[in-house]
Amino acid sequence: PLILGIETSCDETGVGIVRGQTLLADAIASSVEEHARFGGVVPEVASRAHLEAMVPTIRRACETAGIKPSDVDAVAVTSGPGLAGALLVGVAAAKGLALALDKPLYGVNHLAAHVAVDTLEHGDIPRGCVAMLVSGGHSSLLAVEDLTEGVLPMGSTIDDAAGEAFDKVARVLGLPFPGGPYVDKAARDGGDRLYVKFPRGLTSQRDLERHRFDFSFSGLKTAVARWVEARRRDGEDVPVNHVAAAFQEAVCDVLTRKAIDACKDRGYEHLLIGGGVAANSRLRVMAEERCAEAGIAVRVPRPGLCTDNGAMVAALGSELVRAGKSPSPLGLPADSSMPITTVLN
Ligand code: ATP
Ligand code: MG
Ligand code: FE
Repeated sequence: PLILGIETSCDETGVGIVRGQTLLADAIASSVEEHARFGGVVPEVASRAHLEAMVPTIRRACETAGIKPSDVDAVAVTSGPGLAGALLVGVAAAKGLALALDKPLYGVNHLAAHVAVDTLEHGDIPRGCVAMLVSGGHSSLLAVEDLTEGVLPMGSTIDDAAGEAFDKVARVLGLPFPGGPYVDKAARDGGDRLYVKFPRGLTSQRDLERHRFDFSFSGLKTAVARWVEARRRDGEDVPVNHVAAAFQEAVCDVLTRKAIDACKDRGYEHLLIGGGVAANSRLRVMAEERCAEAGIAVRVPRPGLCTDNGAMVAALGSELVRAGKSPSPLGLPADSSMPITTVLN
């Protein structure tokens, strides 16, 4: 099937077009620069930017794919979770498009779409895999048998999301927003991963009893901030590259350890990593190395497909259509707190 997918849950207006599991177009307009001076996404600003970018981005995607809107078999859109006003713009556009074209509408879960996008690179998602979702708002380990049926949450962060920790640490280090890519780059630029040993949250024997598959990054963030402040108080230079590398090492260490433990617990031989933080270069290498050792096959989409985009929504729409799922009602809501267990609204 030919599917057009629309993503507006945060600050990216994304329109993707896929045929089956083949990516034909992935058009993006981002309002990230408008938010940068506030150090975080401003919902009102994001909604307005989506309104302005929506139609031109749909046009651009269709041009790239070489199709007319009337060629599509179904329209998919992020129904949630995300910023209510931002979601509303995408949902309204998708409803209008589906109604005008007389095509079915699929209101999908943004987090499941972060997992589904991998089909565009590596084909069918293995039946029985752990999906580690690490993004700006979420950090979860999910057991997946059939993504179109739903996911089983195994654990999640009890405080900050992994991406949020990257963004906060970046701010402490004086790096721009959103911080993830800048921390990654600073670390790669000669950063010493062993320069400081920052805490690994929820990994002590006692914590593991209650939080085996949960994460905590807020203590790590605070530890980095304290360390940096102490240096500054002493009038010493802060070795940004080393701190970035050591912080990143702590995050990736915990993520990969728990992800592999989750695979072992379920008896799964496949790990899939998705969400913006999956673009992190150290996480990709470490997951590759540690999974190879554990006999687990790891799949990570290319970095450009890890962060928010329209292709991921089209990819999940395509899987749902192929599985014969019934479309959403035209009264489909913008569901800002859509639970991770609901794949399709
Ligand atoms: P969610 O998917 O939870 O709703 P979101 O849509 O804001 O959140 P994504 O676009 O999936 O999140 O991910 C954005 C996050 O990923 C940001 O926190 C950003 O700093 C982080 N990120 C992006 N690239 C990298 C990288 N190379 N290293 C680490 N973090 C990164
Ligand atoms: Mg973004
Ligand atoms: Fe996202």
